[in-house]
Amino acid sequence: ANAPPRPGATGADELFGGLLAAGSDRRTCRSRYESPQYYKHSPYTASPHLLQKLRQYEARHKKCGPGTPEYAKSIASLRSGSSNTEAAECRYLVWLPYNGLGNRMLSLLSTFLYALLTDRVLLVRSTADFTDLFCEPFPDATWNLPPDFPVANMSRLGVQSDESYGNLLRRKKISNQPETAASQAVPPYVYAHLAHGLRITDQLFYCNDDQIVLAKVTWLLLQNDLYYVPLLYGIAEFEDELRRMIPARESVSHFLARYLFHPSNSVWGMVTRYHHSYLAHAEERIGVQVRMFPFATIPADDMYKQIMACSRQEGILPEIDDELMEPGNATGAVFVDDDKEGTTSSNKAVLVVSLHADYYERIKRTYYEHAAKGGGSVGVFQPSHEERQQRGQRSHNQKALAEIYLLSFSDVLLTTGMSTFGYMSSSLAGLRPTMLMVANDQKVPETPCVRDASMEPCCHLMNFNVKCRGKAVDKEELARHVKVCEDLPRGIKLV
Ligand code: GDP
Repeated sequence: ANAPPRPGATGADELFGGLLAAGSDRRTCRSRYESPQYYKHSPYTASPHLLQKLRQYEARHKKCGPGTPEYAKSIASLRSGSSNTEAAECRYLVWLPYNGLGNRMLSLLSTFLYALLTDRVLLVRSTADFTDLFCEPFPDATWNLPPDFPVANMSRLGVQSDESYGNLLRRKKISNQPETAASQAVPPYVYAHLAHGLRITDQLFYCNDDQIVLAKVTWLLLQNDLYYVPLLYGIAEFEDELRRMIPARESVSHFLARYLFHPSNSVWGMVTRYHHSYLAHAEERIGVQVRMFPFATIPADDMYKQIMACSRQEGILPEIDDELMEPGNATGAVFVDDDKEGTTSSNKAVLVVSLHADYYERIKRTYYEHAAKGGGSVGVFQPSHEERQQRGQRSHNQKALAEIYLLSFSDVLLTTGMSTFGYMSSSLAGLRPTMLMVANDQKVPETPCVRDASMEPCCHLMNFNVKCRGKAVDKEELARHVKVCEDLPRGIKLV
């Protein structure tokens, strides 16, 4: 049996084996020190090179971040609008939030990796619904973009903006031709539009020669909602560093998520209160995330049947004893598999995370009406059911974040394919989830679920279709570790 975690206990691994820098104030960010005690799995060890890169990054952020003379100097030249010809000592990457929380976390995580690869300082434009979710990740520094940042009205930035890299290229204000690119003056800031509606010229961001041009820009503003790490693997400039930093490719988001994201004390309070009240004492925790996308709704009965068919196929939820079952009882019938050995009598907790209460109610009822095979108790819990996704509401986002973390402490995960919310919990957990297939054309999928080949999120960029210039990565080597996603055949992921 697993002893419940001991929050606050000190141990060799309280900083994830050196992934996190020591010395931060424990009280201002409890999760930073306590979360390592809660995870069941830590399947990889960070490479010494990654640790070194992170420490270098932290030193750079401390030297160049808001409040420093370097930052003030850089802001002054941005204000004066002077063009750069030489790369400045401190260069910045401003991330602009967009879309739901899971999307934001994956995009931010990708952007942090991009900052590591390009020696930039990552700053976050924090909107009201994005505050009091996370702690400051970097020691003695802030990642919040100060409100007096001189680029006015950043929410207007989009595919049409004059400052976008795509439009600068189209209007020949910037060149990615090797002959002219090297000596050209670049604008003081460039906006990379990588979000919804991006065009081919915007997608050139993911090309080798364009990265050489962008490296000269001091202020790079970036907006997307994607896990774009697999695309960074296609850029020759980054190839060596990526290989050295994270030799096991499946672990990219796992390490970066555990490094970067630390729930604020208010969110961590929700996580730990719930965990200790309902989940901590179970010998096995089974996390089930049910996401019904507006574009892929099916009747709740069908969804429930799909969950149960998947559970039976992959042996996820405890089987029930059929002796007490009434004939024709649809609730229980899907569970029974007479060919299988009875499960051992352990105490299990099933954590259901969903916007809807329906699936939780059905699963709970099943274990109320039926005993689990082999004895053992099965508790079924759901922290909240918000009914619908809300935009711009902090308390709603805090619950979503708390639930991503609660899921990530599971022994086993059943998530919904295509959900970035689900992807985040698997990455944090260090688990390869089983994923429910998403209905196509409102039809119940024939295969209820698939077992993921990797804990990495899927990159959802569809129609990625650019011809890149410059040095290329070895396509065969790339094809060995960038594969199509099980849950979305037009997406790609690292395995
Ligand atoms: P995705 O749409 O599944 O890829 O995930 P996102 O996190 O990007 O967007 C979905 C948003 O809906 C979340 O950020 C939450 O605000 C909300 N949401 C979806 N599922 C849940 C859930 O199970 N629990 C809570 N609390 N919120 C959810």
